[in-house]
Amino acid sequence: TETILRVRDLSTRYFTGDGQINAVSDFDLEIDRGEVFGIVGESGSGKSVTARSVMDLIEPPGEITAGSVEYRNADFAEAVADDHPEAVDGEFVDLRRIPDEARRSLRGTSFSMIFQDPESSFNSTLTVGEQLAEAVEVQRRASARPRSTRARTDDYSLTNYLLSTVLPSQRYVSKESRERAIELLELVGIPDPVERAEEYPHEYSGGMLQRAMIAQALAGEPDILIADEPTTALDVTIQAQVLDLLDDLQEETGMTILLITHNLGVIARMCDRVGVMYAGEIVERGTLSDIFDDQVHPYTEGLLGSIPDLEGGAARSAADSQAAEPRDDAGGRLQPIPGNVPSLIDAEMEPRCQFADRCPKAMEECLEHPPEYDADGSESHTARCVLAATDYSEARALPEDYFGETE
Ligand code: SF4
Ligand code: MG
Repeated sequence: TETILRVRDLSTRYFTGDGQINAVSDFDLEIDRGEVFGIVGESGSGKSVTARSVMDLIEPPGEITAGSVEYRNADFAEAVADDHPEAVDGEFVDLRRIPDEARRSLRGTSFSMIFQDPESSFNSTLTVGEQLAEAVEVQRRASARPRSTRARTDDYSLTNYLLSTVLPSQRYVSKESRERAIELLELVGIPDPVERAEEYPHEYSGGMLQRAMIAQALAGEPDILIADEPTTALDVTIQAQVLDLLDDLQEETGMTILLITHNLGVIARMCDRVGVMYAGEIVERGTLSDIFDDQVHPYTEGLLGSIPDLEGGAARSAADSQAAEPRDDAGGRLQPIPGNVPSLIDAEMEPRCQFADRCPKAMEECLEHPPEYDADGSESHTARCVLAATDYSEARALPEDYFGETE
Protein backbone atom coordinates (compact mmCIF):
# COMPACT_ATOMS: atom_id res chain seq x y z
CA THR A 1 0.00 0.00 0.00
CA GLU A 2 1.07 3.56 -0.58
CA THR A 3 0.07 6.80 1.07
CA ILE A 4 -2.37 8.79 -1.05
CA LEU A 5 -3.09 11.69 1.29
CA ARG A 6 -0.72 13.24 3.79
CA VAL A 7 -1.94 16.07 5.99
CA ARG A 8 0.48 17.86 8.31
CA ASP A 9 -0.11 20.40 11.08
CA LEU A 10 -3.36 21.62 9.56
CA SER A 11 -4.95 24.38 11.61
CA THR A 12 -8.20 26.17 10.93
CA ARG A 13 -9.32 29.26 12.83
CA TYR A 14 -12.53 31.24 12.83
CA PHE A 15 -12.23 34.93 13.47
CA THR A 16 -15.44 36.00 15.17
CA GLY A 17 -16.72 38.75 17.42
CA ASP A 18 -16.20 36.43 20.38
CA GLY A 19 -12.56 36.01 19.51
CA GLN A 20 -10.47 33.54 17.58
CA ILE A 21 -11.86 30.01 17.58
CA ASN A 22 -9.34 27.22 17.21
CA ALA A 23 -11.58 24.78 15.36
CA VAL A 24 -8.80 22.47 14.21
CA SER A 25 -5.28 22.45 15.62
CA ASP A 26 -2.17 20.72 14.28
CA PHE A 27 -4.14 18.03 12.53
CA ASP A 28 -2.02 15.21 11.08
CA LEU A 29 -3.26 12.39 8.91
CA GLU A 30 -1.91 9.80 6.53
CA ILE A 31 -4.29 7.69 4.48
CA ASP A 32 -3.29 4.76 2.30
CA ARG A 33 -4.76 4.19 -1.12
CA GLY A 34 -7.90 2.07 -0.84
CA GLU A 35 -8.23 2.56 2.88
CA VAL A 36 -11.29 3.67 4.82
CA PHE A 37 -10.16 6.07 7.53
CA GLY A 38 -12.69 7.22 10.10
CA ILE A 39 -12.71 10.32 12.24
CA VAL A 40 -15.00 10.06 15.23
CA GLY A 41 -15.88 12.59 17.88
CA GLU A 42 -18.66 14.48 19.57
CA SER A 43 -20.53 17.28 17.92
CA GLY A 44 -18.32 20.36 18.04
CA SER A 45 -15.07 18.41 18.16
CA GLY A 46 -13.96 19.88 14.82
CA LYS A 47 -14.38 16.85 12.61
CA SER A 48 -16.55 18.50 9.94
CA VAL A 49 -14.26 21.51 9.81
CA THR A 50 -11.38 19.08 9.36
CA ALA A 51 -13.07 17.45 6.36
CA ARG A 52 -13.83 20.84 4.86
CA SER A 53 -10.28 22.00 5.47
CA VAL A 54 -8.90 19.01 3.57
CA MET A 55 -11.28 19.85 0.70
CA ASP A 56 -10.41 23.56 0.90
CA LEU A 57 -14.05 24.43 1.55
CA ILE A 58 -13.50 26.81 4.47
CA GLU A 59 -15.23 30.14 4.10
CA PRO A 60 -14.79 33.42 5.96
CA PRO A 61 -14.72 34.10 8.84
CA GLY A 62 -12.91 30.76 8.78
CA GLU A 63 -9.39 30.39 7.49
CA ILE A 64 -6.85 27.63 7.20
CA THR A 65 -3.94 29.24 9.00
CA ALA A 66 -1.25 26.58 8.76
CA GLY A 67 -0.30 23.18 7.49
CA SER A 68 -0.12 21.17 4.30
CA VAL A 69 -2.46 18.82 2.45
CA GLU A 70 -0.37 16.63 0.19
CA TYR A 71 -2.07 14.49 -2.43
CA ARG A 72 -0.23 11.80 -4.32
CA ASN A 73 -0.81 11.87 -8.06
CA ALA A 74 2.22 11.50 -10.33
CA ASP A 75 0.57 13.13 -13.38
CA PHE A 76 -0.64 16.07 -11.41
CA ALA A 77 2.74 16.49 -9.74
CA GLU A 78 4.40 16.55 -13.14
CA ALA A 79 1.87 19.07 -14.44
CA VAL A 80 2.39 21.59 -11.65
CA ALA A 81 6.14 21.03 -11.15
CA ASP A 82 7.26 23.68 -13.64
CA ASP A 83 5.18 26.53 -12.29
CA HIS A 84 5.08 25.56 -8.64
CA PRO A 85 8.15 23.49 -7.82
CA GLU A 86 7.83 24.43 -4.14
CA ALA A 87 4.50 22.57 -3.99
CA VAL A 88 5.88 19.29 -5.32
CA ASP A 89 7.62 16.59 -3.34
CA GLY A 90 8.11 13.52 -5.52
CA GLU A 91 4.63 12.37 -6.52
CA PHE A 92 2.99 14.51 -3.84
CA VAL A 93 1.55 17.96 -4.42
CA ASP A 94 0.83 20.26 -1.50
CA LEU A 95 -2.62 21.51 -2.40
CA ARG A 96 -2.18 24.55 -0.19
CA ARG A 97 0.72 25.78 -2.31
CA ILE A 98 -0.91 25.78 -5.73
CA PRO A 99 -3.38 28.32 -7.15
CA ASP A 100 -7.08 27.91 -6.41
CA GLU A 101 -7.86 27.03 -10.01
CA ALA A 102 -5.46 24.12 -10.10
CA ARG A 103 -6.79 22.88 -6.80
CA ARG A 104 -10.39 23.16 -7.94
CA SER A 105 -9.61 21.14 -11.04
CA LEU A 106 -9.16 18.16 -8.72
CA ARG A 107 -12.68 18.34 -7.35
CA GLY A 108 -14.83 15.54 -8.61
CA THR A 109 -12.05 13.65 -10.36
CA SER A 110 -9.58 13.35 -7.49
CA PHE A 111 -11.67 14.37 -4.48
CA SER A 112 -15.39 14.20 -3.98
CA MET A 113 -17.48 14.92 -0.93
CA ILE A 114 -20.83 13.71 0.32
CA PHE A 115 -22.77 15.31 3.12
CA GLN A 116 -25.48 14.56 5.62
CA ASP A 117 -27.98 16.58 3.67
CA PRO A 118 -28.40 15.45 0.04
CA GLU A 119 -30.82 18.27 -0.84
CA SER A 120 -27.86 20.64 -0.77
CA SER A 121 -26.21 18.69 -3.59
CA PHE A 122 -29.14 18.90 -5.99
CA ASN A 123 -30.95 21.65 -7.83
CA SER A 124 -34.68 21.22 -7.22
CA THR A 125 -35.62 22.46 -10.72
CA LEU A 126 -33.70 19.81 -12.68
CA THR A 127 -34.26 16.08 -12.86
CA VAL A 128 -31.84 13.85 -11.03
CA GLY A 129 -30.79 12.30 -14.35
CA GLU A 130 -30.00 15.69 -15.90
CA GLN A 131 -27.86 16.65 -12.95
CA LEU A 132 -25.95 13.39 -12.93
CA ALA A 133 -25.42 13.58 -16.69
CA GLU A 134 -24.08 17.06 -16.25
CA ALA A 135 -21.69 15.99 -13.53
CA VAL A 136 -20.45 13.25 -15.85
CA GLU A 137 -20.14 15.71 -18.73
CA VAL A 138 -18.06 18.15 -16.71
CA GLN A 139 -15.71 15.38 -15.65
CA ARG A 140 -15.44 13.98 -19.19
CA ARG A 141 -14.45 17.36 -20.54
CA ALA A 142 -11.98 17.79 -17.74
CA SER A 143 -10.31 14.47 -18.37
CA ALA A 144 -10.31 15.02 -22.13
CA ARG A 145 -7.79 17.75 -21.50
CA PRO A 146 -4.22 16.96 -20.70
CA ARG A 147 -3.54 17.40 -17.01
CA SER A 148 -0.95 20.06 -17.68
CA THR A 149 -3.47 22.28 -19.42
CA ARG A 150 -6.06 21.71 -16.75
CA ALA A 151 -3.72 22.71 -14.05
CA ARG A 152 -2.62 25.91 -15.70
CA THR A 153 -5.42 27.58 -17.58
CA ASP A 154 -8.71 29.12 -16.62
CA ASP A 155 -10.32 27.40 -19.55
CA TYR A 156 -11.55 24.45 -17.57
CA SER A 157 -13.11 26.55 -14.88
CA LEU A 158 -14.82 28.56 -17.58
CA THR A 159 -16.45 25.38 -18.88
CA ASN A 160 -17.54 24.64 -15.37
CA TYR A 161 -18.84 28.11 -14.90
CA LEU A 162 -20.81 28.04 -18.13
CA LEU A 163 -22.27 24.65 -17.32
CA SER A 164 -23.37 25.83 -13.94
CA THR A 165 -24.90 29.12 -14.98
CA VAL A 166 -26.48 28.84 -18.41
CA LEU A 167 -30.13 27.86 -18.68
CA PRO A 168 -30.76 24.13 -18.45
CA SER A 169 -32.16 23.96 -21.99
CA GLN A 170 -28.96 25.44 -23.37
CA ARG A 171 -26.66 23.00 -21.68
CA TYR A 172 -25.04 20.49 -23.89
CA VAL A 173 -24.92 17.03 -22.43
CA SER A 174 -23.85 14.16 -24.64
CA LYS A 175 -25.77 10.95 -25.09
CA GLU A 176 -22.87 9.06 -23.48
CA SER A 177 -23.14 11.21 -20.37
CA ARG A 178 -26.88 10.57 -20.14
CA GLU A 179 -26.29 6.86 -20.43
CA ARG A 180 -23.56 7.00 -17.83
CA ALA A 181 -25.96 8.83 -15.49
CA ILE A 182 -28.36 5.91 -15.70
CA GLU A 183 -25.54 3.46 -15.10
CA LEU A 184 -24.57 5.43 -12.01
CA LEU A 185 -28.12 5.30 -10.67
CA GLU A 186 -28.08 1.57 -11.23
CA LEU A 187 -24.67 1.29 -9.56
CA VAL A 188 -26.01 2.87 -6.36
CA GLY A 189 -29.01 0.57 -6.33
CA ILE A 190 -31.82 2.82 -7.54
CA PRO A 191 -34.57 0.62 -8.98
CA ASP A 192 -35.90 1.44 -12.46
CA PRO A 193 -33.05 3.88 -13.11
CA VAL A 194 -34.30 4.86 -16.57
CA GLU A 195 -37.60 6.08 -15.12
CA ARG A 196 -36.12 7.47 -11.92
CA ALA A 197 -33.62 9.54 -13.92
CA GLU A 198 -36.58 11.57 -15.20
CA GLU A 199 -37.74 12.47 -11.69
CA TYR A 200 -36.96 15.56 -9.66
CA PRO A 201 -35.11 15.43 -6.33
CA HIS A 202 -38.32 15.96 -4.30
CA GLU A 203 -39.76 12.77 -5.81
CA TYR A 204 -36.98 10.76 -4.18
CA SER A 205 -37.12 9.45 -0.62
CA GLY A 206 -34.32 10.51 1.75
CA GLY A 207 -32.45 7.24 1.31
CA MET A 208 -32.82 7.30 -2.48
CA LEU A 209 -31.59 10.87 -2.67
CA GLN A 210 -28.63 9.90 -0.51
CA ARG A 211 -27.84 7.18 -3.03
CA ALA A 212 -28.21 9.66 -5.88
CA MET A 213 -25.78 12.01 -4.12
CA ILE A 214 -23.29 9.17 -3.87
CA ALA A 215 -23.78 8.56 -7.60
CA GLN A 216 -23.09 12.22 -8.24
CA ALA A 217 -19.93 12.08 -6.14
CA LEU A 218 -18.76 9.05 -8.10
CA ALA A 219 -19.41 10.61 -11.52
CA GLY A 220 -15.78 11.66 -11.86
CA GLU A 221 -14.38 8.41 -10.44
CA PRO A 222 -12.61 10.18 -7.58
CA ASP A 223 -9.53 8.77 -5.87
CA ILE A 224 -10.73 9.98 -2.50
CA LEU A 225 -14.29 10.26 -1.21
CA ILE A 226 -14.83 12.38 1.87
CA ALA A 227 -18.08 11.47 3.59
CA ASP A 228 -19.27 13.79 6.38
CA GLU A 229 -21.95 12.08 8.49
CA PRO A 230 -23.32 10.50 5.31
CA THR A 231 -26.08 8.54 7.03
CA THR A 232 -26.92 10.59 10.10
CA ALA A 233 -30.16 11.97 8.71
CA LEU A 234 -31.50 8.56 7.70
CA ASP A 235 -33.48 6.08 9.74
CA VAL A 236 -31.63 3.04 11.01
CA THR A 237 -32.61 0.53 8.32
CA ILE A 238 -31.82 2.92 5.48
CA GLN A 239 -28.57 3.92 7.22
CA ALA A 240 -27.48 0.31 7.17
CA GLN A 241 -28.33 -0.01 3.47
CA VAL A 242 -26.42 3.13 2.53
CA LEU A 243 -23.39 1.98 4.55
CA ASP A 244 -23.51 -1.39 2.80
CA LEU A 245 -23.62 0.43 -0.51
CA LEU A 246 -20.59 2.56 0.37
CA ASP A 247 -18.78 -0.55 1.53
CA ASP A 248 -19.53 -2.40 -1.73
CA LEU A 249 -18.59 0.58 -3.90
CA GLN A 250 -15.35 0.96 -2.00
CA GLU A 251 -14.49 -2.66 -2.60
CA GLU A 252 -15.39 -2.52 -6.28
CA THR A 253 -13.63 0.73 -7.11
CA GLY A 254 -10.79 0.60 -4.58
CA MET A 255 -11.38 4.24 -3.76
CA THR A 256 -10.10 5.75 -0.55
CA ILE A 257 -12.68 7.02 1.93
CA LEU A 258 -12.32 9.54 4.72
CA LEU A 259 -15.41 9.01 6.84
CA ILE A 260 -16.52 11.55 9.42
CA THR A 261 -19.05 10.42 12.03
CA HIS A 262 -20.11 10.72 15.66
CA ASN A 263 -21.22 7.11 15.57
CA LEU A 264 -18.78 4.41 16.68
CA GLY A 265 -21.03 1.75 15.19
CA VAL A 266 -20.48 3.28 11.75
CA ILE A 267 -16.73 3.33 12.39
CA ALA A 268 -16.71 -0.32 13.48
CA ARG A 269 -18.60 -1.34 10.40
CA MET A 270 -16.71 0.63 7.76
CA CYS A 271 -13.22 1.63 8.77
CA ASP A 272 -9.71 0.20 8.68
CA ARG A 273 -8.22 2.91 10.86
CA VAL A 274 -9.66 5.54 13.15
CA GLY A 275 -8.76 8.92 14.57
CA VAL A 276 -10.62 10.03 17.68
CA MET A 277 -11.11 13.77 17.70
CA TYR A 278 -11.58 15.97 20.72
CA ALA A 279 -11.51 19.76 20.95
CA GLY A 280 -10.05 20.18 17.48
CA GLU A 281 -7.29 17.61 17.95
CA ILE A 282 -6.80 13.94 17.17
CA VAL A 283 -6.35 12.50 20.67
CA GLU A 284 -5.96 8.85 19.70
CA ARG A 285 -5.45 7.01 16.45
CA GLY A 286 -4.90 3.45 15.40
CA THR A 287 -6.44 0.41 13.78
CA LEU A 288 -9.98 -0.65 14.66
CA SER A 289 -8.64 -3.12 17.19
CA ASP A 290 -6.23 -0.53 18.70
CA ILE A 291 -9.19 1.73 19.32
CA PHE A 292 -11.88 -0.79 20.25
CA ASP A 293 -9.75 -3.32 22.19
CA ASP A 294 -6.57 -1.54 23.33
CA GLN A 295 -7.55 2.10 23.69
CA VAL A 296 -5.35 4.23 25.92
CA HIS A 297 -6.95 7.66 25.99
CA PRO A 298 -9.64 8.10 28.65
CA TYR A 299 -11.76 10.01 26.14
CA THR A 300 -11.76 7.01 23.82
CA GLU A 301 -12.68 4.85 26.80
CA GLY A 302 -15.50 7.22 27.55
CA LEU A 303 -16.80 7.02 23.99
CA LEU A 304 -16.69 3.25 24.07
CA GLY A 305 -18.30 3.18 27.49
CA SER A 306 -21.24 4.97 26.01
CA ILE A 307 -21.94 2.00 23.75
CA PRO A 308 -23.70 -0.70 25.73
CA ASP A 309 -22.78 -4.36 25.52
CA LEU A 310 -19.32 -4.52 24.04
CA GLU A 311 -18.44 -8.09 24.92
CA GLY A 312 -18.07 -10.73 22.26
CA GLY A 313 -15.94 -8.71 19.87
CA ALA A 314 -16.00 -4.98 20.22
CA ALA A 315 -16.32 -4.14 16.57
CA ARG A 316 -19.10 -6.59 15.94
CA SER A 317 -21.18 -5.56 18.89
CA ALA A 318 -20.53 -1.89 18.23
CA ALA A 319 -22.13 -2.39 14.84
CA ASP A 320 -25.01 -4.23 16.45
CA SER A 321 -25.61 -1.53 18.98
CA GLN A 322 -25.83 0.97 16.16
CA ALA A 323 -28.55 -1.07 14.55
CA ALA A 324 -30.38 -1.59 17.82
CA GLU A 325 -30.43 2.03 18.90
CA PRO A 326 -32.77 4.65 17.57
CA ARG A 327 -31.03 7.39 15.66
CA ASP A 328 -29.82 10.17 17.92
CA ASP A 329 -28.62 13.57 16.97
CA ALA A 330 -24.95 14.39 17.07
CA GLY A 331 -23.41 13.64 20.42
CA GLY A 332 -26.54 12.18 21.97
CA ARG A 333 -25.03 8.79 22.61
CA LEU A 334 -21.86 10.29 24.04
CA GLN A 335 -23.45 12.13 26.93
CA PRO A 336 -22.49 9.60 29.57
CA ILE A 337 -19.09 11.30 29.68
CA PRO A 338 -19.68 13.92 32.35
CA GLY A 339 -18.79 17.54 31.70
CA ASN A 340 -18.74 19.67 28.59
CA VAL A 341 -16.62 19.98 25.49
CA PRO A 342 -14.19 22.81 26.27
CA SER A 343 -14.38 26.22 24.69
CA LEU A 344 -12.32 26.50 21.53
CA ILE A 345 -12.05 30.26 21.89
CA ASP A 346 -8.33 30.89 21.82
CA ALA A 347 -8.26 33.21 24.82
CA GLU A 348 -10.15 30.67 26.94
CA MET A 349 -8.15 27.60 25.98
CA GLU A 350 -5.82 26.31 28.66
CA PRO A 351 -2.47 24.97 27.53
CA ARG A 352 -3.18 21.63 29.18
CA CYS A 353 -4.72 18.39 28.02
CA GLN A 354 -8.05 19.58 26.64
CA PHE A 355 -9.84 16.64 28.22
CA ALA A 356 -8.37 17.24 31.69
CA ASP A 357 -11.44 18.65 33.39
CA ARG A 358 -13.60 15.73 32.25
CA CYS A 359 -10.96 13.06 32.73
CA PRO A 360 -11.35 10.66 35.66
CA LYS A 361 -7.59 9.99 35.54
CA ALA A 362 -6.29 13.56 35.38
CA MET A 363 -2.91 14.09 37.06
CA GLU A 364 -0.59 16.98 37.63
CA GLU A 365 1.32 16.09 34.45
CA CYS A 366 -1.87 16.63 32.48
CA LEU A 367 -1.70 20.35 33.15
CA GLU A 368 0.80 20.57 30.33
CA HIS A 369 -0.41 19.94 26.83
CA PRO A 370 0.56 16.33 26.08
CA PRO A 371 2.25 15.47 22.78
CA GLU A 372 1.19 12.49 20.69
CA TYR A 373 2.79 9.46 22.30
CA ASP A 374 3.41 6.13 20.64
CA ALA A 375 0.92 4.03 22.59
CA ASP A 376 2.38 0.55 22.10
CA GLY A 377 5.69 0.83 20.28
CA SER A 378 4.03 0.09 16.93
CA GLU A 379 4.30 3.70 15.70
CA SER A 380 0.80 3.29 14.30
CA HIS A 381 -1.16 3.59 17.52
CA THR A 382 -0.76 6.98 19.15
CA ALA A 383 -2.45 8.82 21.97
CA ARG A 384 -2.24 12.42 23.10
CA CYS A 385 -2.29 11.47 26.76
CA VAL A 386 0.34 11.14 29.46
CA LEU A 387 -0.92 7.61 30.16
CA ALA A 388 0.68 6.59 26.87
CA ALA A 389 4.08 7.86 28.02
CA THR A 390 6.36 5.17 29.34
CA ASP A 391 7.21 7.02 32.54
CA TYR A 392 3.76 8.05 33.67
CA SER A 393 3.97 5.88 36.78
CA GLU A 394 5.83 8.83 38.30
CA ALA A 395 2.76 10.98 37.79
CA ARG A 396 0.98 12.48 40.77
CA ALA A 397 -2.76 12.48 41.16
CA LEU A 398 -4.61 15.78 41.38
CA PRO A 399 -6.89 16.48 44.31
CA GLU A 400 -10.39 15.35 43.39
CA ASP A 401 -11.88 18.84 43.36
CA TYR A 402 -9.03 20.39 41.36
CA PHE A 403 -11.23 21.48 38.46
CA GLY A 404 -14.22 22.21 40.70
CA GLU A 405 -17.40 20.19 40.58
CA THR A 406 -18.24 18.46 37.33
CA GLU A 407 -21.93 18.31 36.65
FE1 SF4 B 1 -6.66 12.35 31.18
FE2 SF4 B 1 -4.25 13.31 31.60
FE3 SF4 B 1 -4.65 11.66 29.59
FE4 SF4 B 1 -5.61 14.13 29.53
S1 SF4 B 1 -3.46 13.55 29.54
S2 SF4 B 1 -6.68 12.29 28.96
S3 SF4 B 1 -6.16 14.46 31.64
S4 SF4 B 1 -4.86 11.19 31.77
MG1 MG C 1 -20.52 17.83 11.79
